[in-house]
Amino acid sequence: MTDLKDATRAPDWQDDVRHGVRHVRDLASLPLSPAERQAAQEAAALHKVRAPKAYLDLIDWNDPTDPIRAQVIPSPDELVETEGELGDPIADHEFSPVPRLTHRHADRVLLFPTYQCAVYCRFCFRKESLTSIGRGYTREALEPALAYIADHPEIREVILTGGDPLSLPDKALAEIRARIEAIPHVRLLRIHTRVPVVLPSRITSGLVEALQGRLMVTVVTHFNHAREITDATETACRTMRQAGFVLLNQSVLLKGVNDSVEVLEELCRELMYRLGVKPYYLHHGDLARGMAHRRTTIAQGQALVEALRARLSGICNPVYVLDLPEGGGKVPLGPCPIEGRDGDSWQIRGLDGAVRTYREIVSE
Ligand code: SF4
Repeated sequence: MTDLKDATRAPDWQDDVRHGVRHVRDLASLPLSPAERQAAQEAAALHKVRAPKAYLDLIDWNDPTDPIRAQVIPSPDELVETEGELGDPIADHEFSPVPRLTHRHADRVLLFPTYQCAVYCRFCFRKESLTSIGRGYTREALEPALAYIADHPEIREVILTGGDPLSLPDKALAEIRARIEAIPHVRLLRIHTRVPVVLPSRITSGLVEALQGRLMVTVVTHFNHAREITDATETACRTMRQAGFVLLNQSVLLKGVNDSVEVLEELCRELMYRLGVKPYYLHHGDLARGMAHRRTTIAQGQALVEALRARLSGICNPVYVLDLPEGGGKVPLGPCPIEGRDGDSWQIRGLDGAVRTYREIVSE
């Protein structure tokens, strides 16, 4: 049973779940070759398989390199583990003082109400936590984490992540929101989710009402390709915007999915202009196991974001970051435009590639 079972839900999103891939055995219903199906089943043993019908419907099955397919259909390349890859690439467990919570930076915590998702992305850096833990939401499971937040007045932001928090029923979301907003020092509720992308019909009025209360709500979506932006995702984002939520997006740079300037340019423009979602981060691939086939080099990523910076307005440009191993945090990787310095004169490369001098003039 999954968190997604709830008799009160709107039938269209329940249908999307019911008619999608929910188990490895459902791969048999997809137009894969016998060899592909066998390989997919082997890879699925390492990371769960799930995708709603609405998302599967975006796949062009005639294209073996389809960017939507690449994100959800298990690949035999996932079985190739490379030395140096990590089970917990950003050290969530090391910075976890109590179950279901990670406290890496003073003013914010990650809270994991569930380890289940509406979709299992093949590139997920938490895939080993999702596979090995596999637990859903219960009130009791969150008590130690909520007590920890209440005991730490330096915490201003609570980030619901997982697993996907929006895979939970409205009632559970309302309960969690109420418990967090009862802690007076918490100012912001942040929700990291793929649901508006893969199951947009789930963004109902009941869901947004469950999240509305005292706290400012920021929803960080996870679109990786402009093909994921549809009439349904547009409606979902409009519903959240009209509820007063701030919408940001984080993408992962994935070889064979979005590692071209044209694809990223279209994605960022459509996010901002069509969905009203600010492109926030473009993540360089972390060291999740079995993902070498989807990572680019950092130099390739820098060249892409340099080209994007010249093509897109500031509001459409994401920040290219790497979430460092050992809990080092997110650091910007964008190419540095500073070419040199002579005292108070700085040589800085402009968007046209020409280097100009900027002399610092400040009063004593
Ligand atoms: S929805 Fe998020 S947590 Fe779940 S598999 Fe995808 S990336 Fe990982």
